[in-house]
Amino acid sequence: MDVKEIQQHFDNLFPAPKCELNYKSEYELLVAVILSAQCTDKRVNVVTKELFKRYNTPHKMLSLTQQQLEDKIHSCGFYHNKAKNILAMSRQLVEEYQGEVPSSTEELQKLAGVGRKTANVVYAEAFGGQAIAVDTHVLRVSNRLGFVKTKQPHECELALMQKFDRASWGKLHLQMLLFGRYICKAKNPNCENCPFKTICNKKR
Ligand code: SF4
Repeated sequence: MDVKEIQQHFDNLFPAPKCELNYKSEYELLVAVILSAQCTDKRVNVVTKELFKRYNTPHKMLSLTQQQLEDKIHSCGFYHNKAKNILAMSRQLVEEYQGEVPSSTEELQKLAGVGRKTANVVYAEAFGGQAIAVDTHVLRVSNRLGFVKTKQPHECELALMQKFDRASWGKLHLQMLLFGRYICKAKNPNCENCPFKTICNKKR
């Protein structure tokens, strides 16, 4: 199956893929992505719905103490580190970026709690940049479909960037994520209705 066919199948499955985190600004997206580590988007949306009513800018977030923020995000897990990073990141935005979220992956990665994956998600989703954020779903799908043979997200990202056209990266990342989340799940994937059976490496 060539690259075009693969993309066609992804387009058929997810013609207009969308990020499932709710947000109204670049800052809200950044906070939501930090909260989403090891947590479902659904849970994050429940938490941010309340949190962003009053604390939707770096300045407002900084009016919370570490303990107060921990209490608000508790159910997302890893709340101590997440609260610490959100406050440190907000302080950086205020002190170094005039309260704005920077629009390049290099600058984004200088922020507390923002690694390569988070930077790529924000860059692609908030700024329309072309980037492939490799999370657990994208990594699993890439291995099953034989695009890569690695457990390293960065290696996977580089391989996907080589295989697919730059213009498709942002959309492809979302399509692969949704494919992994809803069809090619870690346990009990829906292989019966999968268009990639002929190239899949998973033993069934
Ligand atoms: S056949 Fe099953 S395991 Fe393979 S890619 Fe499709 S859903 Fe995933």
